[in-house]
Amino acid sequence: MLDEYKNEQKIAYQIMDNAIKKDKVSHAYLLEANGYPKKNDFAIAFAKYLLCENHHKKLEEQKNCPLCSRSVENILDIKIIKPEGLTIKKEQLSNLQEEFSKKPLEGTKKIYIIEEADKLNASSSNALLKFLEEPEENIIAILVVDNMYQLLNTIISRCQIINLQNNKLDEITNTEKKVEYLLGISEVSTYIQTVLSFVEALEKTGESVHLKIDQLWFSVFNTKETMLYGIEILIYFYKDVLNACIGTELEIFLDNIKEIEESKKKNTKEQLYKKINLFLQAKERLQYNCNLNLVMDTLIQKLGEMKA
Ligand SMILES: [Zn+2]
Repeated sequence: MLDEYKNEQKIAYQIMDNAIKKDKVSHAYLLEANGYPKKNDFAIAFAKYLLCENHHKKLEEQKNCPLCSRSVENILDIKIIKPEGLTIKKEQLSNLQEEFSKKPLEGTKKIYIIEEADKLNASSSNALLKFLEEPEENIIAILVVDNMYQLLNTIISRCQIINLQNNKLDEITNTEKKVEYLLGISEVSTYIQTVLSFVEALEKTGESVHLKIDQLWFSVFNTKETMLYGIEILIYFYKDVLNACIGTELEIFLDNIKEIEESKKKNTKEQLYKKINLFLQAKERLQYNCNLNLVMDTLIQKLGEMKA
C-alpha cells in the first residue's frame, strides 16, 4: 500500500498523490530507484493505487477493497515483465502488447511494470519505444531501473521520471563503499582506480588508448564478469559528471571531485549523454559477445569518432 512509503519516499509519494488528485496521470513513469531495495514493491503499490477507483492508500482501507486486497498476480490489469535469463526479450513485449490490445478486463486502465528495465536489449527497447510512442489512453507504463542512464535516451524522454530515495545509499559517504553497495561486491578500489585512469587517458589522448588498452583496462577487467563491473563503474562516473554539469549533487563519486571536474571541462552535456549511451551499448554487446577485445575496440573506436 502506498501509505507505507509516505515517509520513506516523500517526494515520489507526493508526485503520485498529486497526479491522481489533479487527474494528471502520465502514460509512462520511470522510477529511478538508486538501489532502493523495495523498488518493485513500491511500483506495485503505485500501480494498485492508480487502478483502484477509490485510490486506497491505507492498509485499513485496502483490507476491504476487492482490488487492493488481492495479490498482484491475481490482478489481470497489472502485468509485470522481468528479465527471462539475462535480458528482457522482444517477445515478452509483443505478448504484452497483444494482451493489452484487448479491452481492460476489470477496470478502466491497464498497467505494465517493467522490473530491471536496464535488461531490455536492442530489439525489446525498440518494441517498448513503439509502445511508448503511440500511447493509448488507458495504458500506463511503470519502468523500474536503478540508474536511468541505463536506458536509451529516447525511452527516458517519453517518461515522467520519479527519483526514489535510497537512504541506505545516502548514508554511505565514500565512493568505494557506495560502489560496493551498488554492485553487491567487495574490494572495488582497484576497479575504481582502473576506471579513473582509463577515463583520464580517454579524455586526454584519445588515440593512444587503443595501444595501451591491455595495461589500461584488461590488466584488471579480464573476464566478462569483471568487465561488466568496469563498464558499470564508468557509467556511474559519467553520470556524476552529468550531475555536476547540471548542478545537482554527486551521487557516487564524492571522493573524486577533482576527476569529475576535469571531465566536466572536457565534455558538453550532449557528449556526456552520448558517452553513457556508448557504455550501455558496450554492456549489451558484452552480454552476447564473449570477445572482450572486440567489445572494447568498438567502444574506443566510437568514442574516438565523437572527437573527430
Ligand atoms: Zn482499493
